[in-house]
This record gives sequence, structure tokens and C-alpha cells, in this order.
Amino acid sequence: MTPVLPLIKKQFLTTQYNAPEHFQVYTERQIDKIEALKQMSEEQRFEMKVVANVLPFRVNKYVIDNLINWQNVPDDPIFQLVFPQKGMLSDDDYNQMASVLRSTNDRSVILKNANEIRLRLNPHPAEQQSLNVPYEDDEPIEGIQHKYRETVLFFPGQGQVCHSFCSFCFRWAQFIGDKSLRFSNTEAQKLHHYLAKYKSISDLLITGGDPMVMKTDHLSAYLEPLLRPEFDHVQTIRIGTKSLSFWPQRYVSDEDSSQLLLLLERMVKAGKHVAIMAHFNHWQEMSTPIVHEAVSRLRASGVVIRTQSPLLNHINNDPDVWARMWREQVRLGLVPYYMFVERDTGARRYFEVPLARAWEVYREALKRVSGLGRTARGPSMSAGPGKVEIQGISEINGEQVFVLRFLQARNPDWVQRPFFARFDPEATWLDHLKPAFGEEKFFFQDEYDAMRTKQVSPRVYE
Ligand SMILES: *Cc1c(COP(=O)(O)O)cnc(C)c1O
Repeated sequence: MTPVLPLIKKQFLTTQYNAPEHFQVYTERQIDKIEALKQMSEEQRFEMKVVANVLPFRVNKYVIDNLINWQNVPDDPIFQLVFPQKGMLSDDDYNQMASVLRSTNDRSVILKNANEIRLRLNPHPAEQQSLNVPYEDDEPIEGIQHKYRETVLFFPGQGQVCHSFCSFCFRWAQFIGDKSLRFSNTEAQKLHHYLAKYKSISDLLITGGDPMVMKTDHLSAYLEPLLRPEFDHVQTIRIGTKSLSFWPQRYVSDEDSSQLLLLLERMVKAGKHVAIMAHFNHWQEMSTPIVHEAVSRLRASGVVIRTQSPLLNHINNDPDVWARMWREQVRLGLVPYYMFVERDTGARRYFEVPLARAWEVYREALKRVSGLGRTARGPSMSAGPGKVEIQGISEINGEQVFVLRFLQARNPDWVQRPFFARFDPEATWLDHLKPAFGEEKFFFQDEYDAMRTKQVSPRVYE
């Protein structure tokens, strides 16, 4: 069937994509079936299996065939992004799982050991489950997180997987089959009820997993009701997705691609700001003709594409990589939005970089692009109290300090106030930092501690 593309201007069509492409995916049980991996040794494949039995693994054929330079494996950044590496587990954890796999095929034994190790990897950072899930009538509303006054996160039930998994994913615990760890919501009604009730919510951020794994019909059931007058206050709909990287076919040749673009266009024409929050970690992900085609079609539908990524050792710990990525994004009409610090969960030991280095990469990259590439804020830590940005390293009264600020906070009043931490060249996360100038605690600490005991909802700041 030839897709119908009434809204796409002819000049955007750089290539013809007529037939839907078959989506083929591999998980940890199929590692030996991946043709490209046959160039690696038995030992290397075993290492991957060990890690893939603890951390989620899933990769699709488009990524394998188009985004990875197999001449450059294992150093290739996209190989690092999707394939498990030995260093992602500590030696002890690695050895535990390796000896289990050498001695048994019994799934229940493997799973028991996997779960033991997983619990040691801080599966729920930043108190996402305990503090962000809103309550109504003493019942948690599953599938929703509401941390910041203006923005509600929604985890649609059908969007709790991705086209491939990122090896550094901070939501890795959602993908290992334990339903109790999962945020999801199959009921659009609950979402709509919540949004209609709180008029200070201006942004809905649909996330996952990846909402773009959903059929357009499902996405439409969540989105179209938002055009009713009781949702006028919800002016922005953001969709967090890695699909432009892992499956650009979603916007080009899938059976419901045109339907999807028409849905987005309808939302835009009705007055909503629709933002695709695209996750790109490296310019290599933006180098295929089909991703350019997908970007053209999305932009023609009237959405804005903003981009974000964590800074990751082994993938993009290099200012040149960021500068090239941001330049390429600006060239394609995308808006760089966030540089994140790798979170304190999962395979962090493999990917984390010191905060001091993160700031250096940010600054060096920013120096190399024009103002239009400097719209990315960061490096930012999504921590319990809020998003904390490292603004710089400075010296004040003879003391070397990190200058910090909240980009976003549980209490909106904390936002943009500069505060200072003692410089620490090894710190990789907010909880490693101590207040500067001999102060005992950061200005927000007491209030944050009180929120943790009292379950303060952002709705108190209406
Ligand atoms: C980052 C984030 C948001 C969005 O914050 P903005 O500053 O509006 O981009 C919303 N909720 C949570 C939990 C977040 O981590």
C-alpha cells in the first residue's frame, strides 16, 4: 500500500519510501542470532549475555544495519549505546551472573540472581515512585507523575517499551518484567480527569518507554480529547521519544505514518504546541536519509522538535561530538533543549563522568556553535529536589566552588536562585556535593526533607 501524504510538500520528499519496512528486533535470548556479532569472539558474546541477563537488552535491525560502524566495534558509540558491555556491572555482580550462566539454564535461578543484582543498582532514582505519583482520595494514580507544578508526566500503558533499549537508560527497571516497578496507565480517562481538574498544568509530557511505539489510534485516544475546552489550559503536549533515532520509519513508511502526522497536524492547527522531545546521543544517529525524511515530515506537520541527551562516557564524552550534533540539529531545524548528567542508577558506573568534566564538555561544545545551538541548558541533574544545573566552576573568597541553580524544582520558588557547593573533582551527582563556605546545608534541604515525610504534592503551589 502506498502511504498517502497529503500534508507533505513535494520538495520535502527527498526519497521514495513506498512499502512498510519490517520491524525486526532481538533480545537477550537472540544474541547468537545477530549476524553482525559473529565477528566477535565467543568470550565477548558471553560477556554480553551476562550483562543482558541483568540489564534490559533489545536492538532492532535498522540500528544494527544503519547506525553502527562495525569496523569500529566495540568503540563505536552506537554499539556502546545499545549493546551490553562487561564494565556496566561491577566485577562482583558480573562474576555472580557469569557463574550462574555457566552452571545452569534454569530460568528461575537466573532470574533470582538477576533480581538480587538489580536491587543493588538503585532501580528507582530521585524518589520517582514515592514522591512523584499523585494521590486522589488516598489512592495513587498509576501512570502519572507530577513533580513540577506546570508539567504532568504520563506513561501510557501501550507505550512502555522502545524500538531498541539504551544501555544507560535511567528507566531500565521498567523493562525487566516486574510489573510492580512499572509506571503505566491504560486508562485515558484517569489522565483526562486529572488534567481537567488542575488548571495550573500547562504541559503534558507523554513518555515511557516510548509513546511512539503506540499505534496512532491509541495515541489519538489520549490526545484528541485534549482539544475540548476544559483542557484549554493544557497548551503544550510534549512527546518524549527515541524513535527518530531507532525507528524513523514511524514517520515515513509504517502503515499508520500518515495518520500519525495528520493527528499531530490536527493538534497543532487546533492551537496546541506539540513538541517532539527527541532523544539523540550522537550525530551518528542523525546521519541516515530516512531520519532526514522523518524530520522533514514531522516539521511539515507543524510540530517543534526539541532534543535532549545525557552526557555519557564511551558515547559522547567529547565536546566535538556535542558541537557537531547541535550544529546538525540546528541545520535540520531542531532545537537543542537539555544536556543531562547520567543518573545514579543502572549502568552508571560505566557511563558517569565527573560533574567538573560535564561542565567542561558543555562549555567547550557551546563555544563551538552559534547562538542557535546554545539553547541546550545543562549539564543538569534530575535529582530528588529538582533539576540542578551546573552553571560553572568559580573561586569565591579563595574557595573553589560549583555554581549551581535549579532549572526546575519541587517548590517553584527555588528556581533560578544561585547556590554554591564546595568544588569536588570526583563528584558525579548532587548527593556527593557539600555546601560551600562552611554552611551546613543547602537552602532547600529542610523544606525538601519535610516534603519527603509529608508527601507534598506540587498542587499546593497552585
Ligand atoms: C524534566 C522534567 C519535567 C519537565 O521540566 P521542564 O523544565 O519543563 O522541561 C517534568 N517532570 C519531570 C519529572 C521532569 O524530570
